[in-house]
Order: sequence, then structure tokens, then C-alpha cells
Amino acid sequence: MSVLKRKLYLSLIEHPKLIQKQIFKALKWKDGNVYEDHQNTHMYILPAGIFQEIRIELRNTIGKKLARNLLYSLNQLSADAIIKDAIEQDFKGKELFKYFCAIMSLFGWGYAEHLDFDSSTGNGTITISRFPQSNIPQQEPVHDDFAGILARAFELSYGGKYEVKETKCSEMAGGGQECTYQIIPLKEGTQVMGSKVDVLQIEKLDAKSIVNPEEFDKLIDQLSMPENGVLMLGEKSAARRLVIKDVASINSMFLKTADLLGWKTMGPVLFRVGRSHLLKDLPSTERMDIAAIKAYLRKLTLFGWGIFDVAQKGESTYHVVLTRNPFTAGMPLQQVATDYLIGGFISGMFESLAGKRVTVKETECAVKGDKHCLFEVSVLAGRKE
Ligand SMILES: [Zn+2]
Repeated sequence: MSVLKRKLYLSLIEHPKLIQKQIFKALKWKDGNVYEDHQNTHMYILPAGIFQEIRIELRNTIGKKLARNLLYSLNQLSADAIIKDAIEQDFKGKELFKYFCAIMSLFGWGYAEHLDFDSSTGNGTITISRFPQSNIPQQEPVHDDFAGILARAFELSYGGKYEVKETKCSEMAGGGQECTYQIIPLKEGTQVMGSKVDVLQIEKLDAKSIVNPEEFDKLIDQLSMPENGVLMLGEKSAARRLVIKDVASINSMFLKTADLLGWKTMGPVLFRVGRSHLLKDLPSTERMDIAAIKAYLRKLTLFGWGIFDVAQKGESTYHVVLTRNPFTAGMPLQQVATDYLIGGFISGMFESLAGKRVTVKETECAVKGDKHCLFEVSVLAGRKE
């Protein structure tokens, strides 16, 4: 690695927020999808609360214990992608792990404030500050998914197998901003939940050759990192916290979870989260009109969520067509439509428009082999709320 590049990497590890602007020049946008031009990884930008809300909804639906096992075991792909990159940059051991933490920070996932790990015994603790929060107070630590990612990151960085347990959590009442995780060597014979299905290799493209449209460059300009690990879009009271994530790891997580629970269970969880998130995101006094819905969908398009097209089909019926939907990227063929999260967002928007509950059905879906995803919205059947 060149001296200059190494210097950049080291400053990234120490102060992600100082070089956030510089690094985010690597984000590219084409036809409704986002990539980074270093490894050409397919990414998307998401509201920071989404995964926290999915975690809590999942716990409420299937029970804490099963949710914990699922989230801990199935969500480890993101560590692999980042650490593979760092290995290629000649990082080893602690540096490798710190690089992983720095990338997580850069993408808005909080900041590894304190790492105390003895690789000879496999014991230690790590404290993460400002991990994205749901702001729904919890009784006990809930970041089982991130504990799983950490376990994998320790394994890839130091060798060996570890068990990571969150002992203090920012989501608990009075928990502050810090989450603390304890690392111990994995006991032999520990059962880990698994799922055989996985996402297929997502086709890579040469992202360096992409010239960003002005609209996307403007969005990137509006991103800021007021504190290490906190990624914000916009200004003052209108600012929203975001995270950036690679598409493959989240799609794999959704797919494996649905493989074990069934889309019949997982689907409504995602739908409820999408709907309630959208409704919370709107100014409470304002109703959306079609122009506002289109503007909101355009923002999601710039986030890399694909290209939306809205058309009124009848007095009380709308069609929303989604092409280049990243949530279907790499998904093996499924029997049913799977875009419940987006369906929930769409439901919330039209609910705001209609002033009452609406029904949304995804009647065509790219994961079923259809050429796009089609959401049919009926504002007639809804009940007043
Ligand atoms: Zn779909």
C-alpha cells in the first residue's frame, strides 16, 4: 500500500469524522442504485432507526430468545466484506479490527470508543458509542445482531472463535450512549443457528467510471458527521440520522430470517416497521399529496432504493412500480413477493394522503421473476383512524 493511502487509512481509524467528506466522494449513484468505487460494492442509504425498529418488532413477534439467536447467528456477512478489504490492504490483528470499526463509524454505526482485548486469552471488552437507537426503551441489552457481527469480526481479525455478549446497552432506560460488549472464547460444542440459503453473488460494475448526477452530489454534500459514527442528512431540526450498508449483507439477513421463520411471519414485521417509520418521519400536521409522495420516493431513489413510478389507476387505486430494487439484488427466486418493508413505506405515504388506512399489495416482484415490483394501493378499503 502506498504511504499516502496508508496515511489516509490511519487517519480514518483515528478520526472517521474528519475525513468523512473525502471518503464519501467514493459513493456513486447510477439508475437508482448506490455503489462505492473502491470494491464496487452495491450499497444503500437507510434511515438509521430502521434496523433497530425491525429488531424490536421481531423480538415482540417471535419472542426474545428466538430473535436473539436468529439475529446473532445470521447477520455476519457485513464483517466479512469489510475485513476482506482490510486484509487486501495488509492490515493484521488489532489494526484489522480497528479498520473494521472505522468503516462502521464512517457509515454511521457509532464509534468504537474503547477496545480492551487480549488475543492470547481471547477475553476482552469493547465499548461502542452512539450506535443508532430506536428510542423505544428496552428492559435488557438488545443488540444481538451487532454482537454477532462483532464475534465474526474478532474471528476474522484475530483467528479463533468467540462469543460476544452485550452487557450494557444504550437502548435500556438510562443506558446513556454507550453499549459495552464482553468477548470470551467460544465454548466447544456451542450450537449456532444456521440457514443454508444465501444471496447469490451480486454482479459488480466498475463504479469508478460512474459520473454522479448533480442531484446525488448535492445529497452527499448535505451529509455530515457531527460526532464520530453519527451520520446526518440535512440541517438542524430537519436533520435525520442515516446509515449506509452493503446490500448483500442485509438481503442475506432478511433471506435467512425468512427461510427459518417464513415470509408469512417476517413479512408483516417488515411491513409494520416500514409503515410506522414513514408516519413518524412526516411532520405531524401535514398530509402528503401526490407531489409530496413522489418527492419522498425520489429521496429513496437517491438513497439507492431503485426507481419508483407512481400512477393513479382509478378513483381510489394507485400503482407504484419499482425497478432496480436493491432489496431484491442477489435474492434467489422466491415463491412470494418479499418487499414488505417498502410496501410499509408506501402504505404510510398513501395513508397520509387518504387520511385513513389503505391496503397495499405487492402483486409483482423481481424475486418472483417479474420484471419489476408492482405495489397496488387501494385507498378505498381502508378504515378511518
Ligand atoms: Zn418486490
